[in-house]
Amino acid sequence: MALPKQKTPKSKTRKRRTQAFVNRLRAPELARCPRCGSLHLAHFACPDCGWYGGKQVTRENRNPQNRQL
Ligand SMILES: [Zn+2]
Repeated sequence: MALPKQKTPKSKTRKRRTQAFVNRLRAPELARCPRCGSLHLAHFACPDCGWYGGKQVTRENRNPQNRQL
């Protein structure tokens, strides 16, 4: 098994682990639906019209509360 040449300093370990926390603070990536124009999570089906990848993948208006997203 490969062994590390040197011990990783505490500061380097802590800086690396901080990134996981910083990434959680960011707002989720939103995309505009090409069919109805509402905002939805990128790489997810539109909650309003159920459109994803040029196809209808879920039923329309499945979640009417998410309309103002
Ligand atoms: Zn849509």
